[in-house]
Amino acid sequence: MNRFEYVQAPSLKDAINMMNSTVPEALLQKAASSAHVVKAGGTDLLDLIKEGLVEPGRVIDLSKIPGLDKLSYDNKTGLQFGPLVTIAGLEESAEVKKNYRALYESAAHAATPQLRNMATMGGNLMQRPRCWYFRSSAHKCRKKGGYTCYAQIGQNQFHGIFDTNICPCVHPSSLATALLAFDGKVELTGPEGKRVVPLSEFFTPSEDKVTQENVAGSKEIITNIMLPPVDANTRSAYFKMGQRESYDWSIADVAVVLKMDGKKCTDARIVFGAASSVPLRREAAEAILKGKVVTEKLALEAAMKSVEGATPLKHNAYKVKLFENLTKRVIMQAVA
Ligand SMILES: Cc1cc2nc3c(=O)[nH]c(=O)nc-3n(C[C@H](O)[C@H](O)[C@H](O)COP(=O)(O)OP(=O)(O)OC[C@H]3O[C@@H](n4cnc5c(N)ncnc54)[C@H](O)[C@@H]3O)c2cc1C
Repeated sequence: MNRFEYVQAPSLKDAINMMNSTVPEALLQKAASSAHVVKAGGTDLLDLIKEGLVEPGRVIDLSKIPGLDKLSYDNKTGLQFGPLVTIAGLEESAEVKKNYRALYESAAHAATPQLRNMATMGGNLMQRPRCWYFRSSAHKCRKKGGYTCYAQIGQNQFHGIFDTNICPCVHPSSLATALLAFDGKVELTGPEGKRVVPLSEFFTPSEDKVTQENVAGSKEIITNIMLPPVDANTRSAYFKMGQRESYDWSIADVAVVLKMDGKKCTDARIVFGAASSVPLRREAAEAILKGKVVTEKLALEAAMKSVEGATPLKHNAYKVKLFENLTKRVIMQAVA
């Protein structure tokens, strides 16, 4: 671990100014990957620093900035929450549980209760992948600017089954699966001001830029996460399969959001987590549900469609059947 300067930002404005100001020369000498880095709960950042993946000159702590931990719901504008809202905060929100069931389920099944108390949603969307080669200092893989993907030739049982050509490591956020299914957006704030990015454009596939997982700039901070309002006809469900029930990331997770007119589905969104370098919408499967009465037979048809085009690696073909089964199950849970 390198030496770094630690500063607690009293306000968002101060945090942005700190990111824009110069880091002392003595500290920069070892800051290989980034001059500044922001910290929220620290549950991933501290690992990244210990693993030598981030060697910051300055750590800017956001955790005491007032107002960034607020959550609100309104029938007209939907759900809004600041980046310091914790996973436990989402899980405990009655509005989330009532209106955004899939998001509630994703929060309730992430990590452990202790981690959920510390882990913020800004940090959750910005956490780095858990591929063991990426996290190992002995492997300079493509994600770290190297030329080899060790996962493609080595142990890949937890890796992706879609778009695996460049880097098959999967996006680690299981909350993002549900947030994308609800068509969420994030607000980013940086020295140039604010911008709102739909989650469908926020995550970057490894084919586009292997060393980065999203479009946030190095001086931008997530300052808000927004979901559109839901109505009485919205049904949703989510299921996460991990190797262990607790203390683990997902091997496969699926979120389904349906708009219903009685028993007929008028609109559908199906998203896979831990299947690819980004949370992945399965549009061809969604199309099968739209305009039809959802039966078990139709759910199976959509589930089979959802895994079409998968290109599993040597050790993870089991995931194809797993995603197919989970998709059918989650569709049926949503309409139940
Ligand atoms: C054993 C274990 C199991 C886990 N299981 C799951 C799981 O099942 N599902 C899941 O989704 N996650 C899981 N996680 C990951 C956990 O949810 C994340 O580590 C956590 O959400 C990160 O939030 P944090 O506040 O601690 O972020 P930090 O560690 O403080 O930051 C993480 C990254 O985000 C950046 N960052 C933080 N806040 C912001 C912001 N507002 N704007 C821009 N950048 C920011 C930091 O610079 C850093 O790069 C697990 C973690 C562990 C250790």
